[in-house]
Amino acid sequence: MKVNCLSCGHALDLRDAYDEYDGQVKCFACGALLAIRTRDGQVKWVELAGSHPSESRPEFQPTS
Ligand SMILES: [Zn+2]
Repeated sequence: MKVNCLSCGHALDLRDAYDEYDGQVKCFACGALLAIRTRDGQVKWVELAGSHPSESRPEFQPTS
């Protein structure tokens, strides 16, 4: 399973241990902290969790 880093776009290769995971992973390319949630080997949610709030780029914008 892969998760694209929201900060640098690097594809993080997560092990099978992350098939059911809700927590944080650190991008080893740029060091950004990502909050991720996965179920059944699928990434359900990814968000920057950390140290660079000014660089935050939410994936989903409200459409109201
Ligand atoms: Zn990164």
